[in-house]
Amino acid sequence: MVTMIRKTIKSFVGRLFTAPVNKGPQRLTRDVHGIDRRLVSRHAIKVCEVLSQHGYDAYIVGGAVRDLIAGLKPTDFDVATNATPEQIRPLFRRARIIGRRFQLVHVVFGREIIETSTFRASSTNGEFTDEHGRILRDNLFGSQEEDAARRDFTLNALYYDPLNEVVIDYHNGVADLKNRVVRMIGDPDVRYREDPIRMLRAMRFAAKLDATIEPATLAPISKLAPLVDNVPSSRRFDELLKLLTCGQAMECLRGLREAGLHQSVLPLLDKVFATEGGERFLELALERTDVRVRTGKSVSPSFLFASLLWVLVRDRSQHYVERGEHPNQALVIAADDIISQQSRAMPIQRRFVADMRDIWFMQPRFERATPRATWRLVEQPRFRAAVDFLQLRAEAREVDSVHAQWWMDLADGDRDTRAEMIDAMQPRKSGTQPGRRRRRRRPRRRSDTDTDTDTDTDTGTQETSSPQGSTTSSAPASSAANSGKRGGPRRKGSNE
Ligand code: ATP
Ligand code: MG
Repeated sequence: MVTMIRKTIKSFVGRLFTAPVNKGPQRLTRDVHGIDRRLVSRHAIKVCEVLSQHGYDAYIVGGAVRDLIAGLKPTDFDVATNATPEQIRPLFRRARIIGRRFQLVHVVFGREIIETSTFRASSTNGEFTDEHGRILRDNLFGSQEEDAARRDFTLNALYYDPLNEVVIDYHNGVADLKNRVVRMIGDPDVRYREDPIRMLRAMRFAAKLDATIEPATLAPISKLAPLVDNVPSSRRFDELLKLLTCGQAMECLRGLREAGLHQSVLPLLDKVFATEGGERFLELALERTDVRVRTGKSVSPSFLFASLLWVLVRDRSQHYVERGEHPNQALVIAADDIISQQSRAMPIQRRFVADMRDIWFMQPRFERATPRATWRLVEQPRFRAAVDFLQLRAEAREVDSVHAQWWMDLADGDRDTRAEMIDAMQPRKSGTQPGRRRRRRRPRRRSDTDTDTDTDTDTGTQETSSPQGSTTSSAPASSAANSGKRGGPRRKGSNE
């Protein structure tokens, strides 16, 4: 009963905080918000135009407005309107109503979907929440003002009218955005309890926008962090993926750890940081991810998770080898161990796990490949990703970079090039085992003079440790050099 009363008071106070009733929203013109209309999706503009022609209010909302003002490229465009889904749908040729509890409309233009939703009211009266205050039902239509109050941070509660180029701002979000401050709308304690995922979102926006989290918004997080466990794991997974692909992944992970939020999504992060070279490996992997995100390339979740957990799998595998396990088997058991530890906190989808295993299990195979085995490897569906991963390991100085580059060239090559490269792997002296040749000094190659190499090729270092602790054979690299297949500047791999 007491909790109930406390909850009601809290939610009342929360509403007071958001009280824009007397003030009314600010209407900011182009010279203040600075949005360049040419960067706005023409389809989103079209949706607003059509709705407006039919007498409704319609605005571009949320992340797109935030990113446009911040000078970033929006990931997608959403529209909010006072028209109901039934009113919206007939106005467009290709539009479908989706969602059961809270319906919204997907307006489809070729490959772009404009998610169009009706202004929504909050239902924080304690009636539809769990014992911690988490909202379980939230499906009421409302006014624009209510819709704004329901959003999480002030910088996410902006409404852009592309026809008049005006931004409607109920919560001083443009100022916060320009000052790079992440500020919760309402009472942060209540709002995090309503939806604990907002704590992860706070970290993401702070990292992505190079912003600070306003003290009152930050304060409750460390206390409430365990509530994230109550959020369905699929949602946590999606949010973690967003964190990792926001363009500032390492920053996000550091923020999560500081706040203790990683426990609900990636508890093994502590172990990774405690592992020698673990933090560096993460930095390298996430830098690559950030570059891909910034250049508009796709990022594969399997590759990301394979990278995040790799140093643990690698060391665990080594541990089994030391106990007498066969290296291949050791890697399999190690992968099982680590994945099951991760799954206890937050399972990774099965299909991603399958790909992660493929990427990991191919690593030792690169080191011992005979010509026949190489052809088999090339045909593996995750070959390309595994080669990218090998390149990442080379960057982390775990494997020889010339060796990794040989595989990259092979992955990039057409069938003839591949055949030539693999042919050149054949032992020249009878009696030498393919793929197991003695290490010898690498002949000097023209590419050694390349200036953009970022690894240890110039020193010819062969420092290598496979998960099994075996030594990398330099055979493929030497063969490539002999066959004259290399020469251009070293290319960074993609991890599609
Ligand atoms: P991005 O699309 O870059 O991930 P976003 O802010 O657009 O960021 P979405 O999940 O697309 O995130 O949500 C769109 C908008 O919906 C947000 O800007 C915010 O206004 C609102 N919103 C999203 N999630 C929440 C939440 N958990 N609580 C309150 N409002 C939310
Ligand atoms: Mg969005």
